[in-house]
Amino acid sequence: MDDYGKIKACILQPAKVVIVSHQSPDGDSIGASLAVTHLLTQLGHEVVPIIPDPAPDFLHWMPGFDEVKVYDQEQEDCNQKIKEADIIFCLDFNDLNRVGAMAEHIRMNRNATLINIDHHREPKMFATYHYLNHHTSSTAQLVYELFDKMGFDKLFNTATAECIYTGIVTDTGSFRFSSTSASTHSITSQLIHLGVDGAQIHQRVFDNYSESRLKLLGYALNEKLLFLKEYSTAIIYLTEVELSKFHFQKGDTEGLVNYPLSINWVKIAILITEDKNKVKLSFRSKGDFPVNELAGKYFSGGGHQNAAGGMSKSSVEETLNTLKKVIPLYAEKLNA
Ligand code: 5GP
Ligand code: MN
Repeated sequence: MDDYGKIKACILQPAKVVIVSHQSPDGDSIGASLAVTHLLTQLGHEVVPIIPDPAPDFLHWMPGFDEVKVYDQEQEDCNQKIKEADIIFCLDFNDLNRVGAMAEHIRMNRNATLINIDHHREPKMFATYHYLNHHTSSTAQLVYELFDKMGFDKLFNTATAECIYTGIVTDTGSFRFSSTSASTHSITSQLIHLGVDGAQIHQRVFDNYSESRLKLLGYALNEKLLFLKEYSTAIIYLTEVELSKFHFQKGDTEGLVNYPLSINWVKIAILITEDKNKVKLSFRSKGDFPVNELAGKYFSGGGHQNAAGGMSKSSVEETLNTLKKVIPLYAEKLNA
């Protein structure tokens, strides 16, 4: 879905722009938001990037991050910016409810043009204009493609390139996942020409563990990894008490769900974590098993074929028991 001509016409005149992305911000949502912020600022717009809740520490170095408002912490100010906005960019989500309490305020501003740039399946088409492709590696890649197509490629600079690179690298597992295409690599090549230091970004994003985070990883893999070998599934489950023993900080379980996938027979990896009485699930798969379907059907979630998320209203233990009942329903598909 591609309204690029209309999007271009819409951003030609300087306006008040708000940029929003999904709850539990990640490298792609922040990377795409900051890239659009840099590009639109150069076009003369007044731009306010807003994230629903705080971002993990390993993203705080990103160019422009200091300008990002956190809705949870500055609700009144953010609501005012949303109310005054002429254009609202909605990045890296396919359903307005993914921004939490902000959604209601966005809906209340009926004068704003909503522009949705996203790479998730089954978009809810809530915006005025769309730039969507679920085959693309990341929203950051779509931002590059869209601005290039609109003829604004001259505006790309090192800061924008670093933001886009971070989005691509985090959403592709460092160019590993099947969503990594030839155009992902050729765009990445352009980003390097623009001054991106890939090794430095990898270090900033991935080599920044605290001692307790590394020990939590050890504990999770040693003590809290359950195998359902018959169903090619591995599950890690952690309660809030366990997480607090390891001085849990936001972002400390990022990437943890990928570890079980390194076992040759594992096709589905699931991470269950408890945070302030909420139980969150992260799903990853290899090959063509659609974890977004599983997340959507049983855990009010969604995402992509190989990476999805969801929630549970039960305890960690009950959620684990639910999974033990649900996973066998997919036995045929898993053994195919
Ligand atoms: P993660 O496991 O890293 O939190 O999320 C993996 C993927 O699933 C991301 O693309 C994310 O956007 C999506 N996702 C995570 N949680 C949810 C959720 O609660 N609902 C929906 N629809 N998608 C989610
Ligand atoms: Mn993404």
